[in-house]
Amino acid sequence: MIRLKNIQKRFGDLDVIKGIDLDINNGEVISIIGPSGTGKSTLLRCMNCLEIADQGEIQIEDYSVNISKITNKDKQWIRRNTAMVFQGFNLFNNKTVLQNITEGLIVVKKMKKSEAEDRALKILKDVDILEKKDNYPSSLSGGQQQRVAIGRALALEPKILLFDEPTSALDPELVSEVLVLMKALAKEKRTMLIVTHEINFARNVSDRVCFMDQGIILEEGAAKEIIDNPKNERTKQFLNAIR
Ligand code: ATP
Ligand code: MG
Repeated sequence: MIRLKNIQKRFGDLDVIKGIDLDINNGEVISIIGPSGTGKSTLLRCMNCLEIADQGEIQIEDYSVNISKITNKDKQWIRRNTAMVFQGFNLFNNKTVLQNITEGLIVVKKMKKSEAEDRALKILKDVDILEKKDNYPSSLSGGQQQRVAIGRALALEPKILLFDEPTSALDPELVSEVLVLMKALAKEKRTMLIVTHEINFARNVSDRVCFMDQGIILEEGAAKEIIDNPKNERTKQFLNAIR
């Protein structure tokens, strides 16, 4: 299980994350929805130590880190055990699809090249993009690039997959191929935290939905309950505005 306790983050005078508590069970899929600028990306970035929160505690299974005493070893451990999928794919453009997957396995997991390639080929088959293994990212569609990015995250066998608006940069006709893959991962009981504007996906695929506004989780609960029957006025307003 993954537990966030009282996570806080400021940028200068800007109080972005104002004390977030969240428990994520193994195999659980949680969607975070909410208006722009409310700290959703910052929360994910704090969870995998791309940003270091100012305060709070991050616990991943038995490994618990008090942020005010975080060490480089802790940061490394957290980064290795959480994997992020970004809106803009963030693939290595000078590497082939296969090399994009093997790179982390060789550098981070210290695997032998042949072993890394075996794992990468299997993953590329799982994300259904094996035929492009020798292509460079620029020759792939956005949907294909995002599937490679998801494969790269999966290859590292993280304890949790963090998705930051994984379909927002895609042409509308490419969105569904990525959502279909994410739905399959949810069915396999991968632990996932997904920031998304895809409300139907959040409703139908996640176990829980959190509505985040101005640095706090204002409302959370069973996905269908929050989306179909929100209690908080701000959640209602937000959902009405985007539907
Ligand atoms: P969106 O839905 O538009 O992606 P978000 O909920 O992900 O928004 P964040 O990107 O987390 O919001 O940003 C929250 C606030 O923190 C914004 O006001 C943003 O400008 C600010 N912010 C984020 N990163 C930094 C940074 N590195 N330095 C200064 N301010 C930052
Ligand atoms: Mg964001």
